[in-house]
Amino acid sequence: MRKTEQRTVILEELRLCRNHPGAGEVYLRVRERMPRISLATVYRNLELMVAEGIIRRLAARSGQKRYDPVVERHCHFRCSACGRIEDIPFPVELPRLDPSHPWVKERRVQGARPEYYGLCPDCAGGDSNNETE
Ligand SMILES: [Zn+2]
Ligand SMILES: [Zn+2]
Repeated sequence: MRKTEQRTVILEELRLCRNHPGAGEVYLRVRERMPRISLATVYRNLELMVAEGIIRRLAARSGQKRYDPVVERHCHFRCSACGRIEDIPFPVELPRLDPSHPWVKERRVQGARPEYYGLCPDCAGGDSNNETE
């Protein structure tokens, strides 16, 4: 019982946290509701849910694994200033690979997950002219 409850809370907090958090950030949120939970438990549950296909792990950049509660196909926007990752809320048409190309024929291409980047509304905020160069 307790285990499923932990998992439910972890999943809820991951869903509430809209920037694709790492285990540490999920842990801080879950701890507010379950003060005795450990980071290792949160991490283990996240990895289990990834293995079961309930959530997705994002390709790690700078070593930190981040988690995505949305498993359906969608594109991401990464803020290069604050590092937050947002879902792009509309479908993005992806370029197709020519299926007759020998390189493509040799492989089983299953999809593409492009990532857009730039500044989120908070970081782009106002019209402060603090661009260098
Ligand atoms: Zn930002
Ligand atoms: Zn996402």
